[in-house]
Amino acid sequence: MRVVLDPDLCQGHAECEFAAPEVFSVPRRGVVEILRDTPPPPLLDAVREAVRNCPTRALRLED
Ligand code: SF4
Repeated sequence: MRVVLDPDLCQGHAECEFAAPEVFSVPRRGVVEILRDTPPPPLLDAVREAVRNCPTRALRLED
């Protein structure tokens, strides 16, 4: 699984970092940094939650 960001949609809400801090890092200003774009299986539930919780739908998962 690969995490894909649409940087045009990201508004820095940091819901993703809250759900999966090992994968997402949100700076004070600007868009999220994806620390691991192919997260290991133990992190996938948290990453799915992050994708679900993103208020602007800036994140998606690809096979
Ligand atoms: S929750 Fe969505 S909008 Fe907020 S920082 Fe993460 S990707 Fe960006």
